[in-house]
Amino acid sequence: MTRRVLVMVLGLVCLLAGVASAGVQRLYVLDCGRNIGKDQARWSPGVNEGKPIEFSDNCYLIRHDRGLLLWDTGVPDAVAAMPDGMVVANGAITYRRARTLAGQLTELGVKPADVTYLAVSHTHGDHVGNVALFASSTVLIQGAEYDWAMAGPNKPAFGPSATITRLAGDHDVFGDGSVTILSTPGHTPGHQSLLVRLPKTGYVVLSGDAVHFRDNWDHKRVPAMNVNREQTLASLQRIQGVLDERRAQLWINHDKPQSDGLRYAPAYYE
Ligand SMILES: [Zn+2]
Repeated sequence: MTRRVLVMVLGLVCLLAGVASAGVQRLYVLDCGRNIGKDQARWSPGVNEGKPIEFSDNCYLIRHDRGLLLWDTGVPDAVAAMPDGMVVANGAITYRRARTLAGQLTELGVKPADVTYLAVSHTHGDHVGNVALFASSTVLIQGAEYDWAMAGPNKPAFGPSATITRLAGDHDVFGDGSVTILSTPGHTPGHQSLLVRLPKTGYVVLSGDAVHFRDNWDHKRVPAMNVNREQTLASLQRIQGVLDERRAQLWINHDKPQSDGLRYAPAYYE
């Protein structure tokens, strides 16, 4: 082997090693509140009528070698200072928060300005409660969701200098296939979920509110408040296809029993 060929081979090996180590480094699960529903049947028509249900509400911070992505922002941080929580939806739901999102990011050494991308599964109040904190981030949201939210009574308070990127379908966030926004409409017009490839954990789908808890997933139930039933069912089928294809885990954001089994920050998944 000539010296020149040896240098070329070594260069190729280094390049391949670099490619192999690139991608998602860590995924942190953050406690972004609790939703206490008075009546589970709001989400599961005809099932467990009149029974209360408690939802977890998570945010997820993904550290990639090309930047930070925050997925959802939970209920407003101000709720942490409200001893009785915040009552919404005409008394049907009470938000609670044990810890602020800002405080959890600080613990991780992350400032809001460090967050490259802010992506929201959708624009309901338990997901966009702290979007104003990320004044300089690039917001990744479906155009259909943005238009719907901005035409409604509860406009999300995106920072005035935030860059809004209007998506129209799936989106490869970092350009390497490791973090992909999946278009999963139905709960709202531009609802989206997130597919993450972790080097050790493997593929994980973060549900957003495509489904709210395990029993609804198992029975493919559609909450009455969803904007489109057929789209919801198609999105559930799509997620099932992704789980099968990627051998992925489904992390259902509001499923408290499942969330109770996850490692929260400062622990992380790799
Ligand atoms: Zn929700």
